[in-house]
Amino acid sequence: MIVANPFAASGEWFRGTLHAHTTVSDGAMTPNHLIAHYAYAGWDFVALTDHWHATGPSEVTVTNTGTPHPVTVIRGIEVNTENGSTATGSSYHITGLGVDGPIPRRSEGTGVPSAQWYVDAIRERGGMAVIAHPYWSGLTLRDFEGLHGYLGIEVYNADTDVHIGRGDASLLWDDLLTHGHNVLGIGVDDCHRPGYDSVRGWTVVRAADRSGEAILSAIRAGNFYASAGPEIIDVHWDPGSNVIQVQCSPVRSITAVADGMKGARLNAGRFGASLGARRRRSASGRPEGVLEGELLTGAELHLTGRERYVRIQVEDAHGHRAWTNPLFIGPV
Ligand SMILES: [Zn+2]
Ligand SMILES: [Zn+2]
Repeated sequence: MIVANPFAASGEWFRGTLHAHTTVSDGAMTPNHLIAHYAYAGWDFVALTDHWHATGPSEVTVTNTGTPHPVTVIRGIEVNTENGSTATGSSYHITGLGVDGPIPRRSEGTGVPSAQWYVDAIRERGGMAVIAHPYWSGLTLRDFEGLHGYLGIEVYNADTDVHIGRGDASLLWDDLLTHGHNVLGIGVDDCHRPGYDSVRGWTVVRAADRSGEAILSAIRAGNFYASAGPEIIDVHWDPGSNVIQVQCSPVRSITAVADGMKGARLNAGRFGASLGARRRRSASGRPEGVLEGELLTGAELHLTGRERYVRIQVEDAHGHRAWTNPLFIGPV
């Protein structure tokens, strides 16, 4: 099964966040002010995901007044199961993107079916369900067994990262992909206090236009990548080929992450290339990223052809990452 490669898709790139709170729930800014905040940051879209309230464009009345460019407001919601409903006794938080209408709180029942009830409720209202901040919630592979119909997980959640350092769910994502859960990874702020937990995690979507419908349908198709800093400019992979070409903003490592003991990484620095990684060469023919302090802007990564999945992950000099979705998922 081949998952979409947004770098091979037509359209334009739009950047935004898919998880943010306003004064409608526990956020510090009104919907109007939050949208203006993101407009000044240069964001193209924002999904408002207040707890138990489907906040949307109708709550935003002066969105674009005096701001640099229009921000597309996507109606969203965040719901959660009761504490004690996961393997470690915590709860699931689930965002619904493009959801139409409120979702009632459901108090009875525990365990995975309760999370399933909310995933189904989001889908019945036309939305996409995303498992929010799974590392913060303490979710493990067991919590995803039997759960289905959700789009993916937040591979990066800035709010839980700045609070307690549990924002990066890369490891859990690999566990899921390795065990046959073919889920996508999005990057979000989960903004509550703009300036503290905003403009730190985002999703870059390859969509036909900046309308909410186009952005949501591109997300549904997997045409996006997640970032907490670096820009991924191109990922070139021909289905059937064992070579992936990556171009990105300057980073200290470029990795093809795959299932156990497979994959390849190129690191900046003199001894930085693994067996499966090749350096780009500058116009003068000099290999890139070898000199002290010099970063990488691309790599050629070689696969074995036996990978179950491969995703690209880059990390900049500050340790900030960007993540593509799995490029392909082989036979289970
Ligand atoms: Zn939450
Ligand atoms: Zn939240």
